[in-house]
Amino acid sequence: MSIISTDISKAVTILSNDELVAIPTETVYGLAGNIFSEKAIKRIFETKKRPFFNPLIVHIPSVELLPTIVRYIPEKAQLLADAFWPGPVTLVLPKNSNIPDLITAGKDTVAVRIPNHPVALELLNALNFPLAAPSANPFGSISPTTAQHVNDYFKNDIKMVLEGGPCERGIESTIIGFNGDEPIIYRLGSTSIEAIEAIVGPIEIKNKKEIAPDAPGMLDRHYAPKTETILVDNLSEAIKNHSDKRIGILAINTSSEHEAIAFQIILSEATDLQEAASKLYDALHQLDKQDLDLIIAERFPDVGLGKSINDRLQRATVKA
Ligand code: AMP
Ligand code: MG
Repeated sequence: MSIISTDISKAVTILSNDELVAIPTETVYGLAGNIFSEKAIKRIFETKKRPFFNPLIVHIPSVELLPTIVRYIPEKAQLLADAFWPGPVTLVLPKNSNIPDLITAGKDTVAVRIPNHPVALELLNALNFPLAAPSANPFGSISPTTAQHVNDYFKNDIKMVLEGGPCERGIESTIIGFNGDEPIIYRLGSTSIEAIEAIVGPIEIKNKKEIAPDAPGMLDRHYAPKTETILVDNLSEAIKNHSDKRIGILAINTSSEHEAIAFQIILSEATDLQEAASKLYDALHQLDKQDLDLIIAERFPDVGLGKSINDRLQRATVKA
């Protein structure tokens, strides 16, 4: 049975009834609920098995609504909003008193963005409340980039997945907080550090070990297949070292030949990082279905979106 539908008015009805709808965005599919409905927000945490200390991102349809969510907008936040919205940049700003504690995990700040997806924007414009929409996957598992991925996870838990096609960007938004008026990157994502620095100048990254960790165990397991996954610089060497196993390969741009390889995916023959990012999670979903002993992923060049892709792959390798 499928709960996938293109019916936006049906989504409006369900959401207005304090229930959840999975929605398309340009980054990944989100599990959406009315930010002002305690029932809906609790259901988001329950459905995802997400811990309550992990705050949610508020999605709005236009920048004019930002002052209804936050009480202060630093100059550089305004510059970033003007440059990237609608788009995959999330701003963490001092919250208005009407924003429920459940959304912010009790913090005094709230994360907010405008998604760049026509279906999401049409839906948000048809509602008279913003949506909280964390990725529509069980906590820690691979994020969904198609309606089918969400259907596979949650067909028994929610009423509807709003169909919006495969996500064009394919990894989560870049999250930017502020120390006073100075921006700080909290999470790498679909908007590259370089693109952000072109707008606001050199920017601090809060947790450098999250980007280039000395030991993968220092990271939170997240975005992770069930199959054991490793991230390597040298594919052919890794294949040789694991030739006694049934291997799956996630390669940047070239195919490998070895009898131990049962399945392989090339993310971008043209080495286009945006193409690779958009295909990343679907590739992990496919690899995870092949009954492999091991997934070997090739590390990307550490520039632009390559940094964000490596961040996700790194977290996918952390053992459960
Ligand atoms: P997700 O919605 O699953 O893409 O994840 C939302 C992420 O946004 C959380 O895991 C936090 O890292 C971040 N976030 C949301 N709200 C805040 C906040 N008020 N302060 C800091 N980080 C936040
Ligand atoms: Mg998530």
